Amino acid sequence: GASRDDSTVSGRVRVAVRLRPRNSEEMVADADFADCVELQPELKRLKLRKNNWDSDTYEFDEVLTEFASQKRVYEVVAKPVVESVLDGYNGTVMAYGQTGTGKTYTLGRLGEEDAADRGIMVRAMEDILTEVSPENDLVCVSYFQLYMETIQDLLNPANDNISIVEDPKSGDVSLPGATLVEIRDHKSFMELLQLGEAHRFAANTKLNTESSRSHAILMVHIKRSVKGKNSSFSSENGNMTLTGKTLKPPVVRKSKLVIVDLAGSERIDKSGSEGHTLDEAKSINLSLSALGKCINALAESSAHVPVRDSKLTRLLRDSFGGTARTSLIITIGPSPRHRGETSSTIMFGQRAM
Ligand code: ADP
Ligand code: MG
Repeated sequence: GASRDDSTVSGRVRVAVRLRPRNSEEMVADADFADCVELQPELKRLKLRKNNWDSDTYEFDEVLTEFASQKRVYEVVAKPVVESVLDGYNGTVMAYGQTGTGKTYTLGRLGEEDAADRGIMVRAMEDILTEVSPENDLVCVSYFQLYMETIQDLLNPANDNISIVEDPKSGDVSLPGATLVEIRDHKSFMELLQLGEAHRFAANTKLNTESSRSHAILMVHIKRSVKGKNSSFSSENGNMTLTGKTLKPPVVRKSKLVIVDLAGSERIDKSGSEGHTLDEAKSINLSLSALGKCINALAESSAHVPVRDSKLTRLLRDSFGGTARTSLIITIGPSPRHRGETSSTIMFGQRAM
C-alpha cells in the first residue's frame, strides 16, 4: 500500500497492532501448532495464516511483536498523542481486541513491582506531570466505566448514572456529574487508579458482570496558562506589550486526553444467550460498531461522523477528528484456536486506516 506518513493530516487515526505472547496454557495446548499470525515489524506487516501454505497480508502504522516492551508500545502508540495534548489539542488512545489479548495490560498496568511494566496510563501521566508547571497549569482526572449505555463514576460509586453534556456551539463534551480529582504527583495518580479499579470490581460484582463487558475510560483534563512572551510583541494574540508586561491576561489553553480500555470485542453467541447476557451483547455490539463507523468516517475524511449512535461515540466526539489526534491499538493473541476473532480484530484495525 501507500506509505503512511500523513499522520498529521486531520482526522487520520494511527493504528498499531500488538501481539500478546503465548500464555502457559497455549504453550501446552497449541504446542504442535504455529501461531495464527506471523509479524514482520520492519515492514509493518502482519500475515494472518489461512492454512499451512497460504496467508493474507495486512499493513499497519506499527506492528508490535510479543517482544515489544511497554516502553516502546507507549512511545509509538501514545506519546505523540500526549505531546499534542500538552500543546493544547484533544487526543484519544484506545485499545480494541478480544478479551484476554492484552488491552488492560497495555493501557492500565501500574508496574508497581517492576517499573518496566508500566502501561500507557501511567507513562502518559508521568510525561504530563514532567511537562506542566505546578504554578500555572492544572491537571485533573476523571475515571468512569460505560456499561449498557450507563456511565458509572469509578471515583465515586454513588454516581452511577452520569449524563453527557454537549455544548451546542463549541461541540465540547463534558460530564458535570463525574468526580474530578486534581493530580499533583505520581503517587496520587497511582492511588486514584487503584481506587478506580477497586470500585470497578465492586460495581461489576453488584451488576453481576465482568469488567470485559464494559468500557473503562480515563479522562485527563489539562489547563495551561500560556503567558505572553517577555518581549515587546506577543505573537500569541498579536497584542503589543509594554516593557515586558502583556496588556491581556495569559491565554488559558484547555485540552484533554482520553484513554479507553474498550469492552472485549469477541462475538457473543446471541442464539445461546438470553436476558442479561443478551442485553450486554447487544449493547457492546452497538457501541463498538458505532465506534467503528466513526473511525471509518474519519479514515475516509467523510464530512459526516455519526457520533450520535452511542454514548461511547458521543463521549469521544470532541476527542477525535478535527484537530484531535487518535491512536488505536488493536490487541491480538497468537492462538490458532482464536483465528476467527483475531481476523475480525484485524479487520476493525484495517478499516480505521
Ligand atoms: P484484556 O484486557 O484484553 O482482557 P489482559 O490485559 O487482562 O487482557 O491480558 C490477559 C493476560 O495476558 C494477563 O494475564 C496479562 O498479564 C497477559 N498479557 C497481556 N499482554 C501481555 C504482554 N504483552 N506480555 C505479557 N503478558 C501479557
Ligand atoms: Mg481488560
